[in-house]
Amino acid sequence: MQIDLKGLQKGPRRYRGEEDPVLLDVGDRGISAQGPLRYDLTAELAGHELVVRGTVRVEMEFCCVRCAEPFTREIRDDAVLLTHRVEDLPGGRDASGGAAGAALVDLTEDIRESMILLFPSHPVCGEACRGLCPQCGRNLNRGRCACRPPADARWKSLDKLKLDA
Ligand SMILES: [Zn+2]
Ligand SMILES: [Zn+2]
Repeated sequence: MQIDLKGLQKGPRRYRGEEDPVLLDVGDRGISAQGPLRYDLTAELAGHELVVRGTVRVEMEFCCVRCAEPFTREIRDDAVLLTHRVEDLPGGRDASGGAAGAALVDLTEDIRESMILLFPSHPVCGEACRGLCPQCGRNLNRGRCACRPPADARWKSLDKLKLDA
């Protein structure tokens, strides 16, 4: 998304809309956007600083690390705060007749980075997720399996360690 600095010289401006969520594709682990990136931001100039605040949200699909099932969650940042140093304010006092362009600041990459930081590093479909049986691979959210945990062997070797020590 692009902010037009020219429009900001009269005062803050609100930007609301949607952005193609393709920009959030991180290309791995079954993470994909399920809808547009929605933003509601207010931009203002504070001296040579462009300050942008507001809300950005997007529906994302993740793959549960416990049960390996995809699930959808809204990733939302209600306290977006982006700042951007602006060296050349358009129409400054020494308007030397140069190029009137370069008044656009593209915030796409800033937004992308701040959203990706909010992605869970270990996405879990729900706190109650039981995950997969380590032996037969059954999704235990859908029902039990007949496996018994091989706990005995593990504890026995631990006991042995203690005895040897
Ligand atoms: Zn799960
Ligand atoms: Zn099992």
